[in-house]
Amino acid sequence: MTEYPKLILHNGKEEPIQRFHPWVFSGAIKITDSNIVDGDVVEIYSAKQQFLGMAHYQKASITARIISFSKQQIDVNFWTKKIEKALAFRGFLNLANNPNTNVFRLVFGEGDGLPGLIMDYYDGHIVFQAHSIGMHKSRIDITEGLKQVFKTLLKSVYDKSSETLPSQYAINLSNEYLYGSCDEELVVVENGVKFYIDFINGQKTGFFIDQRENRSLLGTYSKDKRVLNTFSYTGGFSMYAAKHGCSMVHSVDSSAKAIDLCNKNATLNNVTNHEGFAVDTFDYLKDHGKDYDVIILDPPAFAKSKDVSHNAVIGYKRLNAMALQNIKKGGILFTFSCSGVIDKKLFYNSVTAGAIESRRHLKLLHTVSQPADHTITPNFPEGEYLKGLVFYVE
Ligand code: SAH
Repeated sequence: MTEYPKLILHNGKEEPIQRFHPWVFSGAIKITDSNIVDGDVVEIYSAKQQFLGMAHYQKASITARIISFSKQQIDVNFWTKKIEKALAFRGFLNLANNPNTNVFRLVFGEGDGLPGLIMDYYDGHIVFQAHSIGMHKSRIDITEGLKQVFKTLLKSVYDKSSETLPSQYAINLSNEYLYGSCDEELVVVENGVKFYIDFINGQKTGFFIDQRENRSLLGTYSKDKRVLNTFSYTGGFSMYAAKHGCSMVHSVDSSAKAIDLCNKNATLNNVTNHEGFAVDTFDYLKDHGKDYDVIILDPPAFAKSKDVSHNAVIGYKRLNAMALQNIKKGGILFTFSCSGVIDKKLFYNSVTAGAIESRRHLKLLHTVSQPADHTITPNFPEGEYLKGLVFYVE
């Protein structure tokens, strides 16, 4: 077995790891072997020399991310087993081999025991995003694991980590195929709804897979409704509304590229009552908010760190107040936050503040979150980031 360098923790700092929390903060570390460099695999030990886990090392506030709680060789076989396990869970969720849905999150970092790694599956094309140097350095072995698990189903692996790695590493890094390529215009299907995916030029890995179940829920409320989908990106919610018989649907996004793809998605799904507007949501709501029975608010993260969470609260309050002031009587508001640093309660309170300002009466219909392929585990509560509320507006 390969000898890996070691980290030894201060007394008592092993406890979170024994509860399977996968992060080791710099302050917990007493001794570090001198020859360690960023991205190395290390072994973690307690002050009493008890083995705790195998981790990726990176000199930062989170210094080690645990990829295994048992002692083992980190090689292609290790990655293959991890990928098999992740895929088996998606199979259990009826996402793998489902002709109606061929897009899902294959690996969701800590939720799959692989901190620092995101992999999304688009009908045989896999978009790989490393958030840690360790995952970046493991990319070739991980790709090998993907080949072994997916075999002939695997069409390509695209490394899109230039936006997700710490800047000092990303600087000379360009996104590239690690295997195969995608030469045709890629179309995927989600719950029977079709979408063009441009994972190279699109945002994040190309599509916001995390809203799949909430898009379905919107579908159930869409019949004969006039729907406004703000922060629409490529029209995920809009296409579901149309497929479920809304009377008309408008998509609003500040990105003209996103609206172009949104319009193409409408054509792809034979939707004729859709219109897209490449404008700012706040401006649009001011002038046109009165026309709708259903409004979806799915903004990008308003806060990326705790110290600016106050700005996010103000943003959510203002946005929700604007939508609520305008929405028709008997309307339905779908409102979301994907800011990890804003917890459920704070989001709920921000929307409530907006509701009070709007002087509308609301009834809570649903409290929603991310789907299970964006796996939340009890040992890692930080993994829950998507929060959604659905209100009936009197
Ligand atoms: N609901 C979408 C995902 C939304 S992501 C889906 O299901 O696919 C957030 C989107 O908000 C991005 O497409 C981004 O371009 C857009 N955006 C950011 N700021 C905006 C603003 N002020 N007005 C309108 N769109 C905005």
